[in-house]
Amino acid sequence: MSKKKLALYWNASCGGCEEAVVDLGEDLLKAAKVFEIVLWPVAMDYKYKDIEKLKDGEIDATLINGAVRTSEQRNKAELLRKKSKTVVAFGSCAHTGGIPGLANFHRKKEFFNWIYHDSPSVTNPDEIQPQEKTSVKEGELHLPRFSDTVKTLDDVIEVDYYLPGCAPPVDLIKEALNAILKGELPEKGAVLAPDKALCSECERNESKPEKIDLKNIKRVHTKKLDEEKCFLEQGVICMGPSTRSGCGERCINANMPCRGCFGPPPRVKDQGLKFLSGLASLFDASETEEIKKIVEGITDPGGLFYLYSLPSSLLKRKYVTRREKEMEKIKELKKEIEKREDEIEEKTKELQRKLRELEDKNSNEAL
Ligand code: SF4
Ligand code: SF4
Ligand code: SF4
Repeated sequence: MSKKKLALYWNASCGGCEEAVVDLGEDLLKAAKVFEIVLWPVAMDYKYKDIEKLKDGEIDATLINGAVRTSEQRNKAELLRKKSKTVVAFGSCAHTGGIPGLANFHRKKEFFNWIYHDSPSVTNPDEIQPQEKTSVKEGELHLPRFSDTVKTLDDVIEVDYYLPGCAPPVDLIKEALNAILKGELPEKGAVLAPDKALCSECERNESKPEKIDLKNIKRVHTKKLDEEKCFLEQGVICMGPSTRSGCGERCINANMPCRGCFGPPPRVKDQGLKFLSGLASLFDASETEEIKKIVEGITDPGGLFYLYSLPSSLLKRKYVTRREKEMEKIKELKKEIEKREDEIEEKTKELQRKLRELEDKNSNEAL
């Protein structure tokens, strides 16, 4: 029997999803016996032109991890889509945007200003920052376009399956590879993890009382956490109710609350919003001031409720009002004017210096 062709690729990722594949351990050797790995940049030296040479649909399955931010990532995803029968969005970043997706709370311009100009550790008197095209004497250099918005894989190509988790657990990776091998994949569009919320698998669910009355929100480091009790009951935010199960309750078992890396459970579009509406119903407060006090206890609500899912949420990213854009333009113009004024001042000084030199020379000649 000929081997099935498998490709593994990474976009905007931390490398953890690649490590999760390596965590297959000896099973990786078994996988290598039944799959021909045609691309895996992190582990083997392959050239993209080798992929370009393949027939369309020749790769049986491609696992792509990481979110999509640059034109290069998009182009590679499109190429692999064309060459693959099945594409799996592998890990939170490809599935729901993941940690890199938090960048959508800021604009590209803000990042570039901070990284290349305003950060206290930066010295950049010539105000250099990366350009898509740069001319050097040898020719023109190109960098991929860095877009304003981080996207999920299915924002840019059609995705057949989603393998959730930051990173996906080894047992789910094995199951997915077996299903690919045996041609036993479920209906297209499926998430390759149980169709339940994490709370339904969590042992602490039993300790959850009928009704939770939250008077304030506590952060994990401010309280000794009971290892048996539901985090929510202890006033600590746990995203379990609006997160898909399948991770083996990794964080809960380490006495840490869930942060939602498995994405939303079935039939939930916006994980953060779903959690927020559920959380609000637990508030034991009716007066505005009491509610305000509870809400103020939630540090960085955007980063907390959308830690893994901002690009796939209804919110998607931070939007900028016309007024903010106009204010930005004014700020830029002011900066430009200041720069020009400095240049004029420098030139004036230079001319005055030259004039003085000429005057000195003339007076010396006259003598
Ligand atoms: S899902 Fe997690 S482990 Fe995988 S690339 Fe993203 S941040 Fe890294
Ligand atoms: S909220 Fe968290 S701790 Fe409580 S049952 Fe759900 S997953 Fe478990
Ligand atoms: S407990 Fe939550 S954050 Fe932790 S691995 Fe499971 S799904 Fe991810």
